[in-house]
Amino acid sequence: MMILLLIMLIIIVYFFIKEYKLCTCFEEDVKKCTSCGYKVKEEYIYCPNCKERLKKECENCKRLIDINWRKCPYCK
Ligand SMILES: [Zn+2]
Ligand SMILES: [Zn+2]
Repeated sequence: MMILLLIMLIIIVYFFIKEYKLCTCFEEDVKKCTSCGYKVKEEYIYCPNCKERLKKECENCKRLIDINWRKCPYCK
């Protein structure tokens, strides 16, 4: 009986880890061009596929921020 319980626990932990890894993977991949859906890197300023602008310069601190962000996360 104890062994069965242990196996169940291992299976649960295994699935939990698997799911967790999938989640982090998905989040890493989620950055896409807003215009064409082309996968872009976090630091890209323009989409290499459709030339859409992905970043804008904050008027206050001059840092490059996501074009969709309504508020610069670096400024007060
Ligand atoms: Zn694009
Ligand atoms: Zn700023």
